[in-house]
Amino acid sequence: KIRMETQNLTVKYGRATGVENISLPIYDKKVTALIGPSGCGKSTFLRALNRMHDLTPSAVVTGHALLDGEDIYTSGVDPVVIRRKVGMVFQKPTPFPTMSIYDNTIAGLKLVGIKKRSYLDEMVEKSLRQAALWDEVKDRLKTPGGSLSGGQQQRLSIARALAVEPEILLMDEPTSSLDPQSTTRIEELIEDLKKDVTIAIVTHNMQQASRVSDYTAFFYVGSMVEHGTTDMIFTRP
Ligand code: ADP
Ligand code: ADP
Repeated sequence: KIRMETQNLTVKYGRATGVENISLPIYDKKVTALIGPSGCGKSTFLRALNRMHDLTPSAVVTGHALLDGEDIYTSGVDPVVIRRKVGMVFQKPTPFPTMSIYDNTIAGLKLVGIKKRSYLDEMVEKSLRQAALWDEVKDRLKTPGGSLSGGQQQRLSIARALAVEPEILLMDEPTSSLDPQSTTRIEELIEDLKKDVTIAIVTHNMQQASRVSDYTAFFYVGSMVEHGTTDMIFTRP
């Protein structure tokens, strides 16, 4: 089943092209890897999937991105609602360093106005468990997010994204600032998460794409040159 789909999606930064005419299906509860060399537009494409470019004045998006059949670029659609449904995790972990682990986890929920303590408590435990961080932090929820290791901070960033219960999770090179051991933990986590959430991950690491993804889209200088099941893409002669 297709959860999200782009049709002729193009992103320009002023006169420069970020990506051009990308039509890609993103299958439900699967991991889709976006791979290709640096500067080929992977990150630009990923950001178009939750209207992040609304925050970049020079960026202009044309074409369509359908979420459950509805174009997220239709006028009148609230980008904030889209960013709740389509969460994002970045290359560098993004904890608020002086804010507690608890408050970091619920930062997204606070933004959408959720205040009920019992619900927040429940979501903190649920999302930290989903991010495979609960056992390591359950006795220190009041300590600052910045006191965690880099790998733990990335799992905290993932927990924060999961706490708002997104339908799709976008990950932009989530392991490229991490050591090999933390990378393996995140890759195992991705494998677990796809039971609950649809994932699109940008990586320049082919081995990682072949390990974690079900579907692969290969980008080259602003275009998507090939896409298909990861098995097919990686067993090509
Ligand atoms: P990748 O993620 O594959 O490394 P990017 O999406 O970051 O590629 O970049 C694609 C192209 O768009 C590059 O030529 C890059 O310089 C350009 N680009 C990316 N972000 C911006 C921006 N904010 N303003 C202008 N050009 C940008
Ligand atoms: P990445 O490691 O994801 O490829 P980059 O180093 O390409 O990241 O980009 C870092 C930031 O700079 C991003 O927010 C991107 O949008 C912006 N950026 C990239 N290329 C350009 C550019 N040519 N002009 C302006 N901003 C850019």
